[in-house]
Amino acid sequence: MYKCKKCKNFTELGEKMEKIVVKTRNKIYTKINRRGHEIEAGTGWEIVKEIEVCKACYKAHCEELNE
Ligand SMILES: [Zn+2]
Repeated sequence: MYKCKKCKNFTELGEKMEKIVVKTRNKIYTKINRRGHEIEAGTGWEIVKEIEVCKACYKAHCEELNE
């Protein structure tokens, strides 16, 4: 049992813990080229913050992303 960080309710016993990403940041990947210079190799993102939520909040979050 754990407390949902979104709706503040306690989940039911045995309920699977779901995690949602609430904050990300852009990340630039770099590599070193043959001349020894650092060059951009691509961009992506990394997780800054994740929270534990209940099933209902997880579902709502997923639906939000699909819109
Ligand atoms: Zn919740």
